[in-house]
Amino acid sequence: MRDKRITTHVGLTARALGADGMLLAANDPKIKKSIDDVTRTWGGDFFVEIDVDWRREINEWKERGGMVVHLTMYGLNLADAIDKMQNRDLLLIVGAEKVRSVIYDLADLNVAVGNQPHSEVAALALVLDHLQEGKELCRTFNDGEREIIPMRKGKRVIEHTALR
Ligand code: SAM
Repeated sequence: MRDKRITTHVGLTARALGADGMLLAANDPKIKKSIDDVTRTWGGDFFVEIDVDWRREINEWKERGGMVVHLTMYGLNLADAIDKMQNRDLLLIVGAEKVRSVIYDLADLNVAVGNQPHSEVAALALVLDHLQEGKELCRTFNDGEREIIPMRKGKRVIEHTALR
């Protein structure tokens, strides 16, 4: 049983930091809806699939030549693994309370973001950031209803729906 807020934050973080989509092993339409709502409002084409068969997804990803990377504090430290992950089609796995041991074997790489326990949201964010060397923070998203104009003080948001 997952903490629904954390799972939503995994999806929102993945979207904001440049992942294409999220495959969720739980059947939770509410989580999909809240992430889809954010994508409709703020743009991009991030996808969420729920109730996936994780074993099949992992095997199919590998058959297609992709690389499966499980984020765990027991893995190789990110600094020692990042070169192997560059320019690969990555499926990143993060766990909840307890991760089954078979995942450690199915993954091509088990990668630690430091060998201390913390959070799947933080681990995912740091891996995505290191892979893209921070460039993902400057990315803009197309087709959103709203767009933020960054500013030193205050809040400025363009409502594109008003312009359409
Ligand atoms: N006790 C769990 C286990 O056996 O793996 C860890 C639970 S932790 C709250 C949830 C997830 O955060 C883990 O499955 C892992 O994906 C991620 N995580 C936590 N600390 C990490 C670290 N230092 N490096 C990489 N991932 C980490």
